[in-house]
Amino acid sequence: MLGTFAMFSVRCTGKTEEALLNQGRRIRELYEVSSKAGFDIDEQISEMLKLGCRLLNLEIAKVCQIDIDKNTNTFLHTHAPEEYGVNPGIQLPLDSTFCSMTFSSEEAIAIHNTGKSEYADSKPYNFSHLESYIAANINVRGKKYGTVNFSSRYPRPTAFTDTDKDLVNLIGNWVGLSLERQTSQEELYEAKENAEAASKTKSSFLANMSHELRTPLNAIIGYSELMIEDIKDSGDTEQTQDLNNIASSGHHLLSLINDILDISKIEAGKMELSLRETDINELINEAIETIRPSLKKNRDTLVVTNQEGLDHAMVDPIRLKQVLINLFSNAVKFTENGVISIKSGHTIHEEKPWITVQVTDTGIGIPEDEIDSLFQPFQQSSTGAEIKYGGTGLGLAISRRICRLMGGDISIKSVEGEGSTFTIWLPIDQSHEINDPPKMRNVAQR
Ligand code: ADP
Repeated sequence: MLGTFAMFSVRCTGKTEEALLNQGRRIRELYEVSSKAGFDIDEQISEMLKLGCRLLNLEIAKVCQIDIDKNTNTFLHTHAPEEYGVNPGIQLPLDSTFCSMTFSSEEAIAIHNTGKSEYADSKPYNFSHLESYIAANINVRGKKYGTVNFSSRYPRPTAFTDTDKDLVNLIGNWVGLSLERQTSQEELYEAKENAEAASKTKSSFLANMSHELRTPLNAIIGYSELMIEDIKDSGDTEQTQDLNNIASSGHHLLSLINDILDISKIEAGKMELSLRETDINELINEAIETIRPSLKKNRDTLVVTNQEGLDHAMVDPIRLKQVLINLFSNAVKFTENGVISIKSGHTIHEEKPWITVQVTDTGIGIPEDEIDSLFQPFQQSSTGAEIKYGGTGLGLAISRRICRLMGGDISIKSVEGEGSTFTIWLPIDQSHEINDPPKMRNVAQR
């Protein structure tokens, strides 16, 4: 905005000293109104119209929106003596108003004594009886939008000057920019509202669907496992294999449904945690037990260095175990014949004490440009790993959100082809604000 005012002052340099001083005062006043703190855009426009009236010595000011095809002129903002009844919302036939002339011109229009001018017989004059009128066009997003005009029912004793026209042009530019800003804000707000509504609908749809699917799926898993038990001793290996396939597909589908249910609960803001003082090392050991079979399958070596005497943290143990299992199984899943190191410890970050759990693997690693996006739901690395290793791309998204709900976070360091370190951060301090996570940065080197 300052740039617009500066241009204005340069255009005025041909004037006498007094005129220049006068311009300086006007610019300062315009600038003050346009930058007034605590005013919304409507209030600022209204103040600007008031100021324009004062500086031009006129009594009526309007911001009008014009629709040439419909021949309408709609008052959006007005400033006028109350008894004139010039209010926002009034719509007039465009060709009965002086705005029709302004709109079809590229220049500001100024008439200081209409009854004695070439416009004395014009339709706008007969309709409005305005004796003085000065106006400029308003452009919004590069298109003609309407006009800003100042007028009076009385003739002005003196003609408008070029500087008056400059002033009205300047106010027109400023109003155009303000309307652009207002439209963008409204569009942004609407887009946000729509996105939030869509996200809520999606989340509740997924939550309902997942619930409906879980019941029959549990029945399929339960019955297939019962049948496996029943025929265990019969020696029918083919049927046992078929039933094992049914049960393991059922388990896979169930874990997928559980993940979808979790992420939709989190996104709908409905995941509730039950925080308890928890021994983190104990939880790590329990989680390790669940990944032992995969460690063996992938011929990985496990190194655990849990710090003794680790403080208890205020967490939801069931949810944290879910996070640990997810990180541990990812480390194993993406590492063959390698080393998985799990290390717990204390650290100070941003002057606050944290418990950290580091899960390091010597597996396939993650390309640098994909690290951040992996925390988005359904994101998997482009290394083609998901085809070989399966998975849904939900585990990390859920894990980070769970940690953040507990006031912590997860960060990653990774090098493609060399391996990755995922670190869980948990606040120790009881006064730590939940939902005030440490905002860790992910980095691509180790
Ligand atoms: P899923 O493992 O089910 O695909 P996650 O959200 O847990 O879902 O992981 C998302 C993606 O992040 C994985 O598909 C993989 O591409 C990448 N990833 C996660 N952990 C590792 C890891 N330890 N090493 C390499 N890539 C990983």
